[in-house]
Order: sequence, then structure tokens, then C-alpha cells
Amino acid sequence: MKPTFWNNTKLYYDLNSYWQNLFGCRVQKLQIDAGFTCPNRDGTISRGGCIYCDGRGSKLRQAGPLPSVGEQIHRGREYYRKYRKATKFIAYFQTFTNTYAPHEKLKMLYDVALEEDDVVGLSVGTRPDCVSKEVVSLFESYAKQKHVWLELGLQSIHDKTLQFLNRGHSAAQFLEAVDRIAGRDILICVHIIVGLPGETHTDIMETAEILAKLPINGLKIHALLALKGTKLGTLYQRGDISLMSREKYVSAVCDILEIMPAEMVMQRLTADGYRDIFLGPDWAVNKLSVLNALDGELEKRDSYQGLRYKI
Ligand code: SF4
Repeated sequence: MKPTFWNNTKLYYDLNSYWQNLFGCRVQKLQIDAGFTCPNRDGTISRGGCIYCDGRGSKLRQAGPLPSVGEQIHRGREYYRKYRKATKFIAYFQTFTNTYAPHEKLKMLYDVALEEDDVVGLSVGTRPDCVSKEVVSLFESYAKQKHVWLELGLQSIHDKTLQFLNRGHSAAQFLEAVDRIAGRDILICVHIIVGLPGETHTDIMETAEILAKLPINGLKIHALLALKGTKLGTLYQRGDISLMSREKYVSAVCDILEIMPAEMVMQRLTADGYRDIFLGPDWAVNKLSVLNALDGELEKRDSYQGLRYKI
């Protein structure tokens, strides 16, 4: 039997249900581009970036000078109040590496984001090698009063894959980051990619098995997307790599869901890319269809998240 505490009709613990359970209302993430860069792009680690990263980071940056964090929050709240009936919000620092700045600057940006009473928390995307003790202490201070997530990009637990992707960090650095953050009321969400070149199904499941045992609270999964202007896109256009089929992706994600703990919040199970630079896989463009296929596969298996979780 699937867990009743999810209070949803799904076969996994989705983010909206989690927030509805926690806050008793519709909660919406407000995407923020605070103008950060990334050590894997600015020359500190490398200049090329991860091979799949398009380097644009944000639609906002394409449109001219960035609005302030306060203005982005204000605009987002108005929009989601009106069109999604959201009443509480999470400030989501999404673009590039959102802990990659001096402590004072980070504090100033996060403080602005949390000024409004209905902004009940923070979610901050970053790299495992950009989570120093000072950064963790800062988040711990917010976590005393607010709902705080740190989102760590990992993609794969295999160093050979991380090197191929030019991630610029190792699996060991990821594990150290989790160790630094855990046990401090900060929630941890990990991002992984399914369908990475050179990875077998066993490799994918090894990543998932390690994550299932770690003190993490959320997971974001998506397929490898090829975008124009990236190294990965060029490899794809040349025919040097192939992308995963929808059937294989759906099956792998269901395998992952089955071994994750029931409490782990599935923040994302598929993603698409910018339409103007999107190369493939074609099926990823239709997110709803992928989600429906995931539901269908779990139903067919008579399965759900956590069915095969081993303590
Ligand atoms: S860590 Fe993120 S922002 Fe930096 S290069 Fe990789 S994908 Fe791009």
C-alpha cells in the first residue's frame, strides 16, 4: 500500500502535496536570478562549464538588466496569487551557483528575499564544492525560522561521468557537502540526470542506491537534454552520442522511485529545455506526457515510490 501521509492521488510524493501537507495551502516557488555566476564558467575551475550547460542560465538575463531580487519576488507573488491561487511562497535562487559570493552579499540577497511574511522559505541551487562551513552556518540561521532547502547539483555518483561532463567536482566532494549540511534543519535536494553518455542502467541505479541511503529530503530528476551551442549539443549533432528513449527513461525513473524512501519529496521528474536551442530528445518537450507515462508505468507495475526501499 502506498503511504497515506502523502495525501495525494499520485504514486510518488510530489512537491505540491508535500507543501500542502506542511503549510495547508498552495505554495509556489518564485524563480530568482540574483546575478550569480559559476566557478565552472568564470575560470576558477574552468571556463567551459558543464558540457550540457548553455551558459544563459536565465530568460531574465536575456532581456536586459536584471530586476532587483525584491522586484522579482514582488512580480512573482502577484502573478502566482492571481493565476495559481498561491498564498505562500518559497524564494528559489535558481540561476547558476547561488552560494558563490562573499558571505555579506549572500546574506543581503537572502534577507531581501525573506522580508515578506508570505515568503515562508528559501530554496537555493548550488554546487557541492560551493557549500562551505560559513555558507552552511548562514543557512542554519535561516532554518531556525524559515523553511530552507539547499539544492545540490550532482548528476551522477560516478567520477568518470562527472569528468566527462566537466562538472569540476568529484563524488567525494558531494558526499562531504551532504555531511556538512545534514543534521542542521536544512533540507537537502539533489539533482540527477538519467541517460548520461557511457552510463549503464547499473550505473544509474548505483547513483540512486547511494542517494537513497543519504540524509537527503528531495530529488530532482531529468533526462539528458541536448541544447544548441553546448559541447553536448555538438556531440549529439555529430552523432557521437545518443540520447535516451522515452521508454527507457520512464522505466529507469520508476526503478529509482521504487528504491527511494517514501518521505523523499520528488521535486521534479522530467524537464524540458529552451525551445529556441533545444535539440533533443524530442519526447522531453511534452512534460505532461512524460509524467503521464510515469504514472502509467507505476500503475502497470502495481508499484509506488518506496516499494523496494531498504532501510
Ligand atoms: S555548475 Fe551549473 S551553472 Fe555551472 S557550468 Fe555547470 S550547469 Fe552551468
